[in-house]
Amino acid sequence: MASIAQVEPLTTARALRGPFDYRLPEELLGGTVGVGSMLVVPFARRQVLGVVVGLSEESAVAEEKLLAPLRALDLGVPVELVALADWIAAEYCSTIARALTLVLPPGAARRLSGRKRRAVVRSEHLPVGARRPQPPPLTPAQERALRSLLDALGERRFEQRLLQGVTGSGKTEIYLRAAAGALERERGAIVLVPEIALTPQIVGRFAERFGETVAVLHSRLRPGERYEEWRRLRTGEARVCVGPRSAVFAPIERLGLIVVDEEHDASYKHEGDPRYDAREVAVERARCSDALLLLGSATPRPESARRAAITDDASQTRLLRLPARVDGRPLPRVSVLDMRGEQNAGLHPLTVQALAQVREDRGKAIVLLNRRGWSNFLSCRSCGRVWSCPECDVALVLHRRDGFLACHHCGHREPAPERCEQCGSISVGRHGAGTERVQHDLAAALEGDEDRFPVLRLDADTVGADGGVATLLRRFEAAESGVLIGTQMVAKGHDFPDVTLGVVLDADATLRFPDFRAEERTFALIAQLAGRVGRGAEGRVLVQTIAPEARAIDHASRHDSDGFLAGELERRQALRYPPFSHLIRIVCAAVESPPARAAAGALAERLNDSLINLPLGSETAARTVDEQARQGRRERGVLAETGMRAERVSPGFGTRATEDAVSRSSAAVLGPAALFRLRGQERQVLVVKASERRPAVRAVGEAVRRVAEDRAHKGVSFSVDVDPQ
Ligand SMILES: [Zn+2]
Ligand SMILES: [Zn+2]
Repeated sequence: MASIAQVEPLTTARALRGPFDYRLPEELLGGTVGVGSMLVVPFARRQVLGVVVGLSEESAVAEEKLLAPLRALDLGVPVELVALADWIAAEYCSTIARALTLVLPPGAARRLSGRKRRAVVRSEHLPVGARRPQPPPLTPAQERALRSLLDALGERRFEQRLLQGVTGSGKTEIYLRAAAGALERERGAIVLVPEIALTPQIVGRFAERFGETVAVLHSRLRPGERYEEWRRLRTGEARVCVGPRSAVFAPIERLGLIVVDEEHDASYKHEGDPRYDAREVAVERARCSDALLLLGSATPRPESARRAAITDDASQTRLLRLPARVDGRPLPRVSVLDMRGEQNAGLHPLTVQALAQVREDRGKAIVLLNRRGWSNFLSCRSCGRVWSCPECDVALVLHRRDGFLACHHCGHREPAPERCEQCGSISVGRHGAGTERVQHDLAAALEGDEDRFPVLRLDADTVGADGGVATLLRRFEAAESGVLIGTQMVAKGHDFPDVTLGVVLDADATLRFPDFRAEERTFALIAQLAGRVGRGAEGRVLVQTIAPEARAIDHASRHDSDGFLAGELERRQALRYPPFSHLIRIVCAAVESPPARAAAGALAERLNDSLINLPLGSETAARTVDEQARQGRRERGVLAETGMRAERVSPGFGTRATEDAVSRSSAAVLGPAALFRLRGQERQVLVVKASERRPAVRAVGEAVRRVAEDRAHKGVSFSVDVDPQ
């Protein structure tokens, strides 16, 4: 009988290599403890929480040296989530202990104290026992999509579908019916949404349709409530889970369906260690559960579009389309307003005119400007001093109402200056306009007032940590007429039927980011805002830009997702960007610049050596040496685009392209290059571009471990991001 439990203690130490063996005492034998059980174990003279990752009959450790766990917690983690954590640790270059913390019940670490849980009354986010409205009839396109999904569910094997449907085409109804289909087949469902606060409508509809069968996991729940929702899922009381990215770890057994709504949304990427992408985790989880994965969006990512285009079975199309809105209304007409040569850089005369018309007609408008604050930066008109963050090499943004300058990277704040400290001049120039200033200017131009025509602002400054978004959106909904101005938050999931005008200011702002996803982001932002307009009446959209010919803007103004995706995939293939390669970003940070540079240099050297020896992929082996040499030259330009200022290209990079052409094709090391100082840390970045993911991740993990262990690089911290977003 298995009497040894292999336990992974949950500590954040990277150097620790578990699992560790523990001898199970009499009372924990006989099936009470299995893989996924949570045990409190003695570890290095402390008590820590651990997860059982394996059982065995014997141990390499002498019996008298084996310790016994102190006790077992009542509910553990499902076995398949332990396997998923293992996959995440390997895939995202993290440790199994860190990955396991993702799949644990909420507040697990806190319950170490042994304190008994009190009964929790569930809060009122679900209309318990509320009316169950009749589902609306389906359009023929919805019927077709649903039939395909139900067929796939019936197969009980891993399947992927992409639901590409314009905003208002009824994707949510498809999710609801697919989830019902999973329940009918006695399987559970997970529905991922970008941000609960911005998508209250979808949560409400699931709660309405499924009642107590739905559990909602989100950060605004109190710890006790979160645990209660988790427990209901773990015990099978609830079989459908709706939540943001972390809901991909919902403890549902016999999972049949995972839906990823608004799959283009950047919030699916987690920014702490492990830096997992919930969309990729969803693929892996669906694969292991023989479940159906359904991605939905009006503006799918190039990665997803390409996956959907690869069909291995001719009878099964992976791309499902909803080309029209359910109410039959056309998408709004989009006009691009050229801002080159405009005297007033903020608002185009036609924009002001259109907004005035909305006021006249007692209608509603949404204005999008992806920049918070009053002015982007301040400078002294006499000596040229620019106010910048003491901790980061970036300009401070003026927030006028609250009278301070803020760093949008680290949160540093200081009072807004009245004069220049350097030369004493009182002439301080304010440059650029953010949402705060545009709100002010529009309220003045449109004679906005609280009752008759409110000009509301939705951004991180006007909404607090909880509840603020919902309150603001409700105010806009309740107003008879008015304007909602804000950052990208205004373009997300909510639905106001009476908005007839959408305006995008400085539409090319996102294009100016040095990032290969800049085009994709810009396209999605404009298309998503257009989707919010004209849901109940005819609408129009104005796009202000100084780059009217930019591909992303041009395609978005014609609602041409397919054209945009085709061009974008072509460009990425030519430059070997995802989905045609995998990127791994490594940042070395230290208080002083030289140690960060030295560590990055040492890493680059190791990686250049180890990546040459990577096995070849079939995709790369087919390429000619000539192509590879060309590729090598192109990579230098790529460096700048991945968000790095190229200071130096690693030795041998590009020049060795011809001699090692074929082997180097499987991976290239770009950098090191300097990043701007952040939170008092000087940073150096390296990017590995590889055609095969696992061996590259392994090589990076090994190289980072070696360099981090080297005393010469003490004081340098390393972070590894696989699939940086
Ligand atoms: Zn000055
Ligand atoms: Zn800062």
